[in-house]
Amino acid sequence: MNYQRILVFGAHPDDEITMAPTIAKLAAAGVEVAVCIMTDGSEGFPDPSWRDRIVAMRATEMEECDQALGITRRFRLNRADMGLAHDKQVFKDCIRVVREARPDAVFTHGPAGINPDHVATHQITVPAVWQAGEPVAADLGEPWLVRQLFYYKEVETSRRAAGPSVTFDVTGFAHFRALAQATQVSQHTLFGKTREEFEAEAERIKEANGPASETFWMSERFALTDFPPREA
Ligand SMILES: [Zn+2]
Repeated sequence: MNYQRILVFGAHPDDEITMAPTIAKLAAAGVEVAVCIMTDGSEGFPDPSWRDRIVAMRATEMEECDQALGITRRFRLNRADMGLAHDKQVFKDCIRVVREARPDAVFTHGPAGINPDHVATHQITVPAVWQAGEPVAADLGEPWLVRQLFYYKEVETSRRAAGPSVTFDVTGFAHFRALAQATQVSQHTLFGKTREEFEAEAERIKEANGPASETFWMSERFALTDFPPREA
């Protein structure tokens, strides 16, 4: 994880929080962390009266999450929540984001999600990351070759059983997930905890300071075509 810049794709505002401790650790070490969210999160309201303000609420929550984790750049593609589809324009938007962020490594959803927006994010971003390095669509920026592409969740059971490609030590940063979840107030009904409960949980984890790690799976597409075999 010796990177200068990383880019994390998420289907919805808050998906990136799955790898919050890794983001926080890399950001604290001076790595530029960019996050690109595909949808506007407009369906994430647990109360019908929030319908008209959920997008604005989630925009504010994303800013708070950025501050909590040290995320330096946030791209929002604002596609329809519960309706993300692979079309030419969203594919080109992802290529443009990769070329603007110029990451050493990209993190995205694996193929095994049940949420259709998560599956679509996987299906759009994997080829977009590859295509961003090709000398095509020059109006989207200078080609940028991404050297490592990882899945941070939704990996097939068989691959999961075979073990991760990378296990990253996040000891001392494990509490950042609860801190980030605390900022996502509109999602607290879904998460089943209040802001105060998340903040108390973060405090407990921080004080316990037990060993912690996160696991990532390298995209088989990249592993097969662009990389030497990884060390055991
Ligand atoms: Zn999601």
